[in-house]
Amino acid sequence: MQRGPVAWTLAMFEKILIANRGEIALRIQRACRELGVKTVAVHSEADAEAKYVKLADESVCIGPPPSALSYLNIPAIISAAEVTDAQAIHPGYGFLSENADFAERVEKSGFVFIGPKAETIRMMGDKVSAKAAMRKAGIPCVPGSEGALPEEPQEIIKTARAVGYPVIIKAAGGGGGRGMRVVHTEAALLNAVAMTRAEAQAAFGNPVVYMEKFLEAPRHIEVQVLADRFRNAVYLGDRDCSMQRRHQKIIEEAPAPHLPTRGRIRVGERCAEACRKIGYEGAGTFEFLYEDDEFYFIEMNTRLQVEHPVTEMITGIDIVQAQIRIAAGERMPVKQRDIMFKGHAIECRINAEDPYKFTPSPGRITSWHMPGGPGIRVDSHVYANYFVPPNYDSLIGKLIAYGDTREQAIARMGIALSEAVVEGIQTNLPLHAELMRDAAFLRGGTSIHYLEQKLAK
Ligand code: ADP
Repeated sequence: MQRGPVAWTLAMFEKILIANRGEIALRIQRACRELGVKTVAVHSEADAEAKYVKLADESVCIGPPPSALSYLNIPAIISAAEVTDAQAIHPGYGFLSENADFAERVEKSGFVFIGPKAETIRMMGDKVSAKAAMRKAGIPCVPGSEGALPEEPQEIIKTARAVGYPVIIKAAGGGGGRGMRVVHTEAALLNAVAMTRAEAQAAFGNPVVYMEKFLEAPRHIEVQVLADRFRNAVYLGDRDCSMQRRHQKIIEEAPAPHLPTRGRIRVGERCAEACRKIGYEGAGTFEFLYEDDEFYFIEMNTRLQVEHPVTEMITGIDIVQAQIRIAAGERMPVKQRDIMFKGHAIECRINAEDPYKFTPSPGRITSWHMPGGPGIRVDSHVYANYFVPPNYDSLIGKLIAYGDTREQAIARMGIALSEAVVEGIQTNLPLHAELMRDAAFLRGGTSIHYLEQKLAK
């Protein structure tokens, strides 16, 4: 963190193992290098030649290409930390970042997990317990069942009548947009509950489901927080991530457009207060659906997010460095009043995929030219002649544009997209270029269904 009247104190790790790959592995490595911390890259056989692996102080191969055998291989990652004498492990996002058992194993093996305590991750990973904790901490939630749905059919019917149709049945252990079913009528209710339970059992090993009011056209708005172990907590403002396809975000921006100032401050303060109440440690994100000027909590992510750069751009705070310092036991030097929000930032996720059919497009990148100029940031690990392996997520980079105003950020993003050239594989750059000219996006505040509806036309 650069801002604030007081500097961070001195305790710092000497060496950190980065348990991830791709752009976020490079992003974390850059934060470590700036802090003077040595880095250990772990990689699968598919990523052995990646430039960020070579740039790390040390590297360890942890297994063959499939994630289950490498980036999800807990014993291999822990022994890599042992042989390299790393003191802490940064999990990035995805992979093991929200795996409470991993966090626990890391700590039990004598390393620091850069993230919240395992018990916090576990509580937030179960959406029923997460909602209960949030309600208790004063965070507004989507109206629905009090906790898990009971077995008795009459009770389920009664709950749905009280909530009001349409309702959505969701798995307590769900994630990644899976394990949900919308119900419009009482006739379909019990069958939908039974099916979601069975699916949840099969997919997540947990048959517990709960019910929420289904919001018809909400926006996805989230609040970034930072909290240290001394119960100091701040919010770093909000992001709008409504531009999604199949619950996957593709454009994010900060701040969220057209939010009333009072509501924005109130929700931010409540998130920071909730962190103090539950003893949250590290960076985290409260995700909300936002409709008719009301925020409804849906889940908390207990890790760094793909879209963290837009918040960094408008606050000047390096979130990854802050995570590392907090994990090292430092006291946050900034108070809420020190945090200044300035300008507007937009992020376009660059995916190796067909821009309209969305089929993955791995393979060799033959040319790679990224834009620059005022307000442009590129977070990517790829380069010309890089081979995009077919084994992982299609995200190959992020293009971030900053401006004094939203209009300037969009204009700069449009120019950046017109300069960007990627050859050899397909990317979604043409879709982004089109969205930067889209009338509804230009107005701002589109719902989570907007992109799918537009694509359907
Ligand atoms: P996951 O952990 O699988 O991402 P979430 O609870 O975050 O699950 O929900 C994912 C997405 O599902 C939301 O971004 C939204 O698009 C949709 N969704 C979830 N709950 C509701 C609801 N109550 N009403 C309308 N849409 C919802």
